[in-house]
Amino acid sequence: MKTIVKTITHTEEDKKIYEQAGKILRDGGLVAFPTETVYGLGADALDAKASAKIYAAKGRPSDNPLIVHIADVNALYDLAAEVPEKALILAKKFWPGPLTMILKKQDKVPDSITGGLGTVAIRMPSHPVAAELIRSSGVYIAAPSANTSGKPSPTRAEHVINDLSGRIDMIIQDDTVDIGVESTIIDLSEEVPTILRPGYITQAMFEDAIGKTIIDPAIMGSLKEGVVPKAPGMKYKHYAPNADVTIVEGPHEKVVEYINSQIAEKEAEGHRCAVMATDETKGKYICKDIVSAGHKDDELSVARNLYAILRDFDKQNIEYVYSESFETKNVGQAVMNRLIKAAGHKIIKLD
Ligand code: AMP
Ligand code: MG
Repeated sequence: MKTIVKTITHTEEDKKIYEQAGKILRDGGLVAFPTETVYGLGADALDAKASAKIYAAKGRPSDNPLIVHIADVNALYDLAAEVPEKALILAKKFWPGPLTMILKKQDKVPDSITGGLGTVAIRMPSHPVAAELIRSSGVYIAAPSANTSGKPSPTRAEHVINDLSGRIDMIIQDDTVDIGVESTIIDLSEEVPTILRPGYITQAMFEDAIGKTIIDPAIMGSLKEGVVPKAPGMKYKHYAPNADVTIVEGPHEKVVEYINSQIAEKEAEGHRCAVMATDETKGKYICKDIVSAGHKDDELSVARNLYAILRDFDKQNIEYVYSESFETKNVGQAVMNRLIKAAGHKIIKLD
C-alpha cells in the first residue's frame, strides 16, 4: 500500500487534508496523526474490522487495548457505562489534554479494542490537529502510539514514516508534539482511582482534584514475579532501542567515574557506545557520542527529547548506552518509567 503523507500548513489547504483523512477513517482505514503527547495511529473505534488493522500494522499483541480519542466530553456517556463524579471533575480540569481515563464500557465498544476487558480507555487530546480530525471525521478514533510495537513512541512524522510507511493509509505531519511521552492513564472503574501509567498529569495533580489516588505498584522499578500491571501494555518490553541500555544512579562524581570506566572498556573492545546526560553534565564524559537529554531541572525538556534520542541511537548503530537518571518530581516520573523499560530494568545503583 502507498502511504499518503500530508503536511499541515495552517492555511485553507488543511481542510482538504482533514476531508481526505476523515473519509479514510469512515471507510475503515488507518491514519496517523500528531497529538500533544506522541503521534497516534487511528481507526474508527466502533468498527472492529478497522481497529484490527491497527494491531496488524504495528505488530501489536491483541490483548493490549487501545485508547479511544474523543472531541467532546458528552462522548463519555456514549462510550462509558458509568460516568463517576470523579471522571467529570478530572475531565473539567485536565481535558482536553494528556489524560486517559479507564471507565466501565458500553456494549457498543468492541471487545477487540479493549483486549476483552470490561473497561474502555478514553482521552480528549488538546492538539489542534488531533481535535479537528476527530471532530471533522465524525468518528471516535481508537489510537495507540504510531510506532512498530516495542519501539520508542514517535514524536516526529519521520519516526512514523520509518516504522509504518507502506502499512497504513495516511500520515498527517505536523511536528508540534509537545510533551513527548504518552498520556497519564488513571483507572476510575474501581473504588480508589489508580494511576496505571505515569505521564504529564501527576499523582499530586490528581490528589488536588479528587483526593486519594494510588499508583499501580507494578509500574515503577522492577516487576516482581506475580505482580501484573493493570494496563496490559505496561507489561511488554517497550520503548527500547536496539542498544543495550544501562541507567547509572548515585552521587554524580561516582556516576561519571563509573560510566567513563565502562565506556573505556567497551570502546577498547571495539564497541560503539553513547552516553545520555544533561546540558549541565555532558562535558564530564569521555565518549565519542554524548547526547544531552535536556536541562537537568527541566523535566519537560527531557520528556520532549527522550524518544527521538533513543531512535537516533539505532540510526547510529550504537551498541551500549549509559544513561544518567533524571529528576522525577513531575513528568520526569514518566520519563524514568519509560527509560527503565528501555533499559530492560538494568539500573546500576552506586553509593
Ligand atoms: P499506547 O497508546 O500505545 O501507549 O497504548 C495504550 C495504553 O493504554 C496501553 O498501555 C494499554 O494497556 C492501556 N489501556 C488501554 N485500554 C485499557 C483498559 N481498558 N484498561 C487498562 N489499560 C488500558
Ligand atoms: Mg504505545
